[in-house]
Amino acid sequence: MFLLFNADKMPEIVASNLQSYSCSFSHFFLWRKFGIQFDCGEGSAIRLDDHVFRTDILAISHSHSDHCRGILTLLEMRSGLKGANDKPLTIVFPKDSKPMDQWIIPARDLAARRNLVNVRFSPIAAGDKMPLQNGRILEAIDVVHENGELCLAYRIGHQRKRLKREYEHLDSKQIQALASKLPRNELEEVRYECELVYSGDTERMEPSFYNGAQVLIHEASFLYPEDADKQKGIHADLKSLLPSVRDGGVRNLILFHSSRRYGLDTLKTKMQEIIEDSGLKCPVILIRGAYNLLTD
Ligand SMILES: [Zn+2]
Repeated sequence: MFLLFNADKMPEIVASNLQSYSCSFSHFFLWRKFGIQFDCGEGSAIRLDDHVFRTDILAISHSHSDHCRGILTLLEMRSGLKGANDKPLTIVFPKDSKPMDQWIIPARDLAARRNLVNVRFSPIAAGDKMPLQNGRILEAIDVVHENGELCLAYRIGHQRKRLKREYEHLDSKQIQALASKLPRNELEEVRYECELVYSGDTERMEPSFYNGAQVLIHEASFLYPEDADKQKGIHADLKSLLPSVRDGGVRNLILFHSSRRYGLDTLKTKMQEIIEDSGLKCPVILIRGAYNLLTD
């Protein structure tokens, strides 16, 4: 299920792309457009059922079991279920994270035993960039989560030719008139367009981190900073997060990892209050349990 704020209905970009699940012990987010799945909590493959073949890239943020316990089942189902069994799958995970071994070593063994020759294991370090289809770039960014736990956020975007900012205020007739006088490269410039950001487990980041993202998937374990239990790692609270998201120009915000201490009624009223106070105007969606899955 989900809670929706600042919108009458689910934005089309989310409804047509997102298949996900988030509860205390399991999180995953499949974004169909890029064939990318962020994290792989327990039960992700079972919940996706034959949509399990949609995942081309599995990007793991960190080694905690609520983000990784479903990796083996995903591989089992991709080899055992009738479907596109030979479809390539790249598993991207934090390089030099010792605790990741507990998931990656058995996954490599399983891939070898089942002869899954098209499964690639691709460790990635903060700052690394990986090309995706259609000119998209996947970028890994390190975030702060817990002492000694390497955690990555991921950003997907591409370079696009756009009208120079100095001409953006012109109407189409004025632009046509200008285009007849100036060569095309005088009118346009190449700009980075950020399409999707996934936070992993972390707290609020600087606005520039969100980079005008069309969609931001961010954890929001708590409502208020005083609710956070710093002993149990660093997590985000909604109150601190939203001003950064607003200033970062995010256009659709998807939240997850919400603590079970809050009942749905509390979440509905308190989230509404915090969102209004922040001045954030974009649609906000909280995923709790399953969204857009065959088992809904
Ligand atoms: Zn974690």
